[in-house]
Amino acid sequence: MEVLDRLCVHTITTKPLGFAEACRAYAERGIRGITIWRDAVGEIPRDEAWDILRHYSLQPVAYCRGGFFPDPDPDRRKLAIEDNVKMIDEAAAVGAPLLVLVCGAHPGQSLETSRTQIREGIETILPAARQAGIRLAIEPLHPMYANDRSAINTMKQANDLTEAIGSPALGVAVDVYHVWWDPALREEILRCGMNGHLFAFHLCDWLTPTSHFLLDRGLMGEGCIDLPQIRSWVEEAGFDGFHEVEIFSERWWAADQEEFLDRIVEAYQQYC
Ligand code: ZN
Repeated sequence: MEVLDRLCVHTITTKPLGFAEACRAYAERGIRGITIWRDAVGEIPRDEAWDILRHYSLQPVAYCRGGFFPDPDPDRRKLAIEDNVKMIDEAAAVGAPLLVLVCGAHPGQSLETSRTQIREGIETILPAARQAGIRLAIEPLHPMYANDRSAINTMKQANDLTEAIGSPALGVAVDVYHVWWDPALREEILRCGMNGHLFAFHLCDWLTPTSHFLLDRGLMGEGCIDLPQIRSWVEEAGFDGFHEVEIFSERWWAADQEEFLDRIVEAYQQYC
């Protein structure tokens, strides 16, 4: 079981399962960590969610997802900031120490403008995060999402922004799906770790062909990402946190989720 000590599953991976059901299914397989998608907790009171997590001895690793700061409309930017502050409180209420930021972008304005608004958004919510004891992780997204999901697309950009803001509560989430192609990946992962900013590591795989930009991720081992190599860089950078399995996949959501979880555990042991 020791090999599973650092395995975490993101609830979006088993989207069809209810929250308590997912917790039970993870715990039964010796999975210790859970990353919580806001919608997975849904209407469940946060103290009840806390009790379910404790009942199954699951460690909340992260809460997802904050961000989406850029918008040409200042009122909408303000709403985004308020929602992020709310998510910081929700993360604290379920005992998750980290809020992941999908920074956002808007097709109606330049990437530079979106990046300025991202920085402003993060700087605005940082005091609330620090007060709640919650860390924030900028997750660089694959450039195919630069139009509408994130204007932060490489580890270098995430590192630059993190260092420019310069808060111990701000770091970076490395998701193999988004960064595997980057020729500067090792160098930027090491830079991130050496500076104490490497807060999270997300696993899945890249399928060829891929049928959907968002909802066709592969199970580890199904695609072309050299997972052991990226894991070795993350460890070389000093990261010793959980390995979060995050698979957005219509194909896997249509499968039996208990069998899928068995496959995840096998794939993690075999390919990561
Ligand atoms: Zn991710």
